[in-house]
Amino acid sequence: GFKMGIVGLPNVGKSTLFNALTKTAAAQAANFPFCTIEPNVGDVAVPDARLDKLAEIAGSRQIIPARMTFVDIAGLVKGASKGEGLGNQFLANIREVDAIAHVLRCFEDGDVTHVDGRVDPVADAETIETELMLADMESIEKRLQNITRKVRGGDKEAVQQERLLKAAMAALEDGRPARTVEVDAEDAKAWKNLQLLTTKPILYVCNVDEASAATGNEHSAKVQAMAEAQGAAHVIISAQIEEEISQLDAEEAEMFLSEMGLEEAGLDRLIRAGYQLLNLQTYFTVGPKEARAWTIRKGALAPQAAGVIHGDFERGFIRAETIAYDDYVTLGGEQAARDAGKMRAEGKTYVVADGDVIHFLFNA
Ligand code: GDP
Repeated sequence: GFKMGIVGLPNVGKSTLFNALTKTAAAQAANFPFCTIEPNVGDVAVPDARLDKLAEIAGSRQIIPARMTFVDIAGLVKGASKGEGLGNQFLANIREVDAIAHVLRCFEDGDVTHVDGRVDPVADAETIETELMLADMESIEKRLQNITRKVRGGDKEAVQQERLLKAAMAALEDGRPARTVEVDAEDAKAWKNLQLLTTKPILYVCNVDEASAATGNEHSAKVQAMAEAQGAAHVIISAQIEEEISQLDAEEAEMFLSEMGLEEAGLDRLIRAGYQLLNLQTYFTVGPKEARAWTIRKGALAPQAAGVIHGDFERGFIRAETIAYDDYVTLGGEQAARDAGKMRAEGKTYVVADGDVIHFLFNA
């Protein structure tokens, strides 16, 4: 599955946000299988109204949403790259995630201490980014040393690694994160394997006061400008509101949201923004037993999509019987879509579309 790491300075609202996420997940746990919750890891359902619609049409007994994992990565402080706070341990945690949700304090509250004594989310973002850049530089130096012998021996992989590490180092020494390096298609895989912290895509989460949840405030406006300049994503959320909502049932939550002038829970927006940031999309498998959503990268081919269900489905892939979501809903189900000629037999080179309803045929 895909993993988002929640980072941020102390006292910005990370735990509040994470608790809201996992409480919502815990409330769902009774209804959904495969929901494991550890102290700092939360497996959260990806909200998708289409799945409910499909289940209703097919009369599915069970609904299984797609999932995204959130990891609460505490302990990031100034000096973390030098081992301050939880230091290197948390840096190792960040290496494992696919993207970073960077929580920034955009609320004023005299009772909640800011580590640097003032609310300045753009400066906070720079503090964290600097730590990540320093950590990358340190790990690049080590790795360059470790591969010198192989490079001298002419090992092709090591030569490629050295070239990429040096490109990353040049950017970092120039004060830029490694994600600003342009990488050729043939280097893309090796580049990703370097697992540099500053190559991870970033979603800035502006944690605003309750009154600004619908509109944002002057702090979140600055973050937005920064995010746009960097080509990063951002969402505006009030962690406190989200925590309150996570304690309500669905009906109460809806009333509460509309009172606040919000169309949907911030967590839903957060999850969706993460989905977008990671370039993900959904396809569905639908039957009387269950309706289920699966997550794939945009551009994934049918066999790769099948592989998300089971490796055997990918290896033995024969074809994908596919109905577009709109056809399934408009025509009123699988049989009707089939009768109308809207079920397509797609082969190995089919690029799966968002919302496709699929049956895979495969050799066991
Ligand atoms: P963390 O250290 O980043 O995990 O921050 P916490 O989630 O523990 O929050 C630190 C303090 O800020 C707690 O006392 C929270 O109740 C408070 N807090 C979090 N979000 C908000 C907010 O949106 N507004 C206000 N006023 N306080 C908040």
